[in-house]
Amino acid sequence: MSQVIRSPKMYDVCVIGSGAGGGTAAKILTEGGLSVALIEAGPPVYPEKDFKMLMWPYELPHRGIGVGGRAAENFGEFLAPNGAWDIEGEPYTSAPGSNFQWFRSRIVGGRTNHWGRIALRFAPIDFKSATRDGLGDDWPIAYDDLSPYYDKVESYIGVFGTRENVSSAPDGMFLPPPKPRCTDLIVKKACDKIDVICIPSRLAILTKSVNGRLPCHYCGQCGRGCVTASNFSSSQVMIPPAMKTGKLTMITGAMAREVILGKDGKAEGVSYIDKATRTEKRVNARAVVLAASACESARLLLNSKSPQFSNGLANSSGAVGKYLTDSVGSDGWGIIPQLEKMPPHNHDGVGGMHMYIPWWKFDRKNDFPRGYHIEFGGGRDMPGVGEFNDLLHEEEGYGATLKKRARQTYGTGIGMAGRGEMIPNPDTYCEIDPSVVDKWGIPVLRFHFKWSEYEIRQAKDMQETFRAIIEAAGGEYKTKTPLGGERPFGIAEGGKIIHEVGTARMGSDPKSSVLNGFCQAHDVKNVFVMDGAPLVTNPDKNPTLTIMALAWRASEYLLDEAKKGNL
Ligand SMILES: Cc1cc2nc3c(=O)[nH]c(=O)nc-3n(C[C@H](O)[C@H](O)[C@H](O)COP(=O)(O)OP(=O)(O)OC[C@H]3O[C@@H](n4cnc5c(N)ncnc54)[C@H](O)[C@@H]3O)c2cc1C
Ligand code: SF4
Repeated sequence: MSQVIRSPKMYDVCVIGSGAGGGTAAKILTEGGLSVALIEAGPPVYPEKDFKMLMWPYELPHRGIGVGGRAAENFGEFLAPNGAWDIEGEPYTSAPGSNFQWFRSRIVGGRTNHWGRIALRFAPIDFKSATRDGLGDDWPIAYDDLSPYYDKVESYIGVFGTRENVSSAPDGMFLPPPKPRCTDLIVKKACDKIDVICIPSRLAILTKSVNGRLPCHYCGQCGRGCVTASNFSSSQVMIPPAMKTGKLTMITGAMAREVILGKDGKAEGVSYIDKATRTEKRVNARAVVLAASACESARLLLNSKSPQFSNGLANSSGAVGKYLTDSVGSDGWGIIPQLEKMPPHNHDGVGGMHMYIPWWKFDRKNDFPRGYHIEFGGGRDMPGVGEFNDLLHEEEGYGATLKKRARQTYGTGIGMAGRGEMIPNPDTYCEIDPSVVDKWGIPVLRFHFKWSEYEIRQAKDMQETFRAIIEAAGGEYKTKTPLGGERPFGIAEGGKIIHEVGTARMGSDPKSSVLNGFCQAHDVKNVFVMDGAPLVTNPDKNPTLTIMALAWRASEYLLDEAKKGNL
């Protein structure tokens, strides 16, 4: 890899990564007239071939569970392609005492090919929560700065929901929601009994046609990718309009290694490994947008060393890799015997929850800071391999009796997942591992991760609430969680909720932050970061809608600055 092949062409912008943030940047920048080279580590995605929306279990080897059941860990072979906890030849490490899990995708569109499409706005308080409780830091921008961009993203990608006026869950530009399913109504009734707010969910799925994309036909299989592009993925919704401008050059199979700094202190391009030829190549550009996902962008910055930045590009603050958070997660489930009497009926809908529970205790004193929301689901989805594992553990017998019991209980379970806010702490960060490199010779990340008492108390509250709701619905709560150990109250390992953010946070003070409020590096003004890395807090709301709103806003700013000749 000693010979670097330089492309003579000079692009206006080089974007690294084509997921939620990179796809948005590519669309806005090319539509604004700039030439963009998009470097993407994975291959292109071909929905007709790659998305398994309308396949039967028997059409895949091992019915979609993979050899030895191994695909189950990565959400099954049915699910949208090329995402995994472990990528062959591309390791990451956890420091002793830490166990961080990092789900990565290597394909055009990144993890937006797989995501749950839950599209929630952060609330005004989420940008200023430190002022309220003294924990962490405030954002340098406020909700009102981002609100017009939430409007733009929602109107463009299509998000269903209802206007509810709940202060922890701001309303947006919504398409009509799908009807509640019978399990939704059961949970809603139980929530009403115990004073918990339960409302229609907000998902990036079309219930009406938007910009020529067809509305959902309710096959319930969003996780497999949608061949009709009725749900949002960057690969189907952001990249095509960028391609249409004629201004986008996609370079796939290209693993960015570092951002190159010129003598004038500005970035002059990106060096990457062409995976097909294993050669190192370079793209020259007037500005660079890192959007390779929060931790990968931190890795790129840390690996971009120069005499000016011996600790990594744009890292004079030392904040790159720090302030890492994931969502607090704890799950549980219960059985609702009343559902055994429900005649079999078509329970399909969108491939995700029709209702959810936003954070409802925002006006009370709780024994943990911030809050969480609850995602829930149940009923008669298409059964997959392993569907009856729990039943087989619980029931004696075999043959007709066991089958009868399986039919009776099938669809009577309701699962709940709490998703809450973690406060950044000094024991949680990523850095370059001093001795491990990937198969391209690029130094990898080493993670440090620790939950604090705040998050553990939140997980305890989640478990108590799940039980209260299931019992109010007349059901039996089945989940048992330990009080201590590595995962008290079932708190998920760090990274497991796949909402890792904060590793190049924005701020008004260049001494403690990497970026300004427009996702532009304080230290190098033609470098921007447009994925989850700029987020200052990680509220209970899933981050992707905010990543796209920030990227849209930052891209408009970049266009403006480019026009003024400021980059
Ligand atoms: C199963 C699942 C369910 C989820 N559900 C939700 C949900 O319901 N709601 C929600 O808000 N979020 C959800 N998420 C999280 C969501 O997918 C991410 O927040 C979002 O995709 C992050 O966008 P991104 O642009 O930062 O990165 P990504 O979407 O991960 O895209 C990064 C891109 O960069 C490329 N890349 C990485 N490294 C390099 C490199 N060195 N060189 C070149 N290219 C590179 C990757 O191949 C990828 O295409 C879910 C994630 C998963 C996996
Ligand atoms: S449920 Fe709707 S959006 Fe999801 S895959 Fe099926 S048609 Fe597409």
